[in-house]
Amino acid sequence: MADYDFDLFTIGAGSGGVRAARLAAAKGKRSGLVEEWTVGGTCVHRGCVPKKFYVFASHFADDFDDAAAYGWTVEGRRFDWPTLVEAKKTELRRLEGIYHKVLADAGTKLFTGHATLEDAHTIRIGANTLSAENILISTGASPYLPPIDGAELAITSNEIFDLPEFPKRLVINGAGYIALEFACIMHGLGADVTMVYRRLGVLRGFDEDIRIAVQSELTEKGIRFRFEAEIERIEQAEDGLAVTLSGGDVLAADQVLFATGRVPNTAELGLEAAGVTLEENGAVRVDEYSRTAQSHIFAIGDCTDRVNLTPVAIHEAVCLIETLYGEAPRAPDHESIATAVFTQPPVGTVGLTEDQARARFDNIDIYRTRFRPLKHAITKREEYVMIKLVVDGASDRVLGVHMVGMDAAEIIQTLGIAIKAGVTKAEMDATMAVHPTTGEELVLMYEPMARG
Ligand code: FAD
Ligand code: NDP
Repeated sequence: MADYDFDLFTIGAGSGGVRAARLAAAKGKRSGLVEEWTVGGTCVHRGCVPKKFYVFASHFADDFDDAAAYGWTVEGRRFDWPTLVEAKKTELRRLEGIYHKVLADAGTKLFTGHATLEDAHTIRIGANTLSAENILISTGASPYLPPIDGAELAITSNEIFDLPEFPKRLVINGAGYIALEFACIMHGLGADVTMVYRRLGVLRGFDEDIRIAVQSELTEKGIRFRFEAEIERIEQAEDGLAVTLSGGDVLAADQVLFATGRVPNTAELGLEAAGVTLEENGAVRVDEYSRTAQSHIFAIGDCTDRVNLTPVAIHEAVCLIETLYGEAPRAPDHESIATAVFTQPPVGTVGLTEDQARARFDNIDIYRTRFRPLKHAITKREEYVMIKLVVDGASDRVLGVHMVGMDAAEIIQTLGIAIKAGVTKAEMDATMAVHPTTGEELVLMYEPMARG
């Protein structure tokens, strides 16, 4: 048997790569990991974590108004962007330190630099080459910027966190996760936000009632939508940027954020030399065990473009380590993944949408409620909660839960367990409510709004 430098060598120290490299080392394997940017990757440095800090920061705008309705005097409120950026940086430095320590404690050997594959067992990092019995590709994805005139004047989610100046007028292209989350963040922090989207309606692919509810909440907040429009070009103007839309209208902006999807980081990796094949969109082609066309090379996380979420990349890493070094191969389970869009109010969703359920089952019951949460009985804020259950009428199994409103992200996490366990509507009905809460309505929807 060939004598390799490593049992497992992982390329990319993001959510998936760090977990796999650490678990391999913990199992006593010679584990190597290389990162060309920052250990922690997208989620920690320009994704989930800083995004959530900015969500917290922006929500204070509503909180101050609400506090006044409850009798507080809130005077002299003022937001300082550099303070937020600096606080975020400090915390991310701390987190990065923890990542380094966890990897070192586990015994993972960390390298810095851009890695390429020279052949199916050889990794090049700068002038050095290393060999590994198994290789893991966990290189993530990068923002996609459509080729329009003036695209170089636009920003993506990579830049928005650290802008030197807060943009008072922001145009956002796209209507997916990142576009909507940043629309709410920047609006809450005081920006005038216009969203431009090529189709009609936000969050394509989500349950229709979620799409309608989110759009209505964001509109109520004062976020503007330009549907069925594309950005044709961006030009430098005297006072900021001039953004020309397909219909000819010109929007004035300080920044233009493109949140138009992400592309897998699979170029300049030497994958061809190693015999690894790609999907049409550049994602690494893998089987159910995350195995590529080469039986000892694996890929997980966003570079495989399956479900591009941090917990999924981590789950794929855990399964891979069990497949390689555990008792039996384990395929990641991509069914019924709970997810949240951190809009304000947030979206929480798990399982099948109504349309997906109707395509698969003959007898679908729909339960839906919409109400103003108790907190806003006093603030009079026009913010609502929408909860929807999709139930298989034949088996009584709850196939999907979709929610927009206060605490939806926290509530859907718990619901995810119930859905995974195959909860029935009767079991939800038999569950006592916790009163007064937003989530209690989940177990109080006795009558369907549509049956069969
Ligand atoms: P990454 O975390 O991207 O890590 C890949 C790493 O590989 C990077 O550090 C990169 O520098 C490195 N790399 C690439 N090529 C090489 C090379 N050749 N050599 C060496 N190193 C290399 N998900 C959620 O679940 N919840 C959220 O709230 C959420 N919010 C998000 C917000 C934003 C703005 C974005 C952009 C994403 C968000 N996501 C969220 C998605 C989540 O960040 C990703 O799904 C997750 O980071 C994927 O992990 P990964 O390990 O596949 O890749
Ligand atoms: P999404 O796929 O969510 O949204 C992309 C948006 O860009 C869609 O509205 C899409 O339109 C539009 N778009 C795509 N290409 C073009 C184009 N050429 N011109 C104009 N518009 C275009 O991707 P994001 O970039 O928002 O986020 C990437 C992924 O990261 C998410 O899918 C998610 O997996 C993850 N993420 C998760 C978060 C969370 O868990 N809270 C938060 C942020 C990101 P169309 O609908 O027409 O295709």
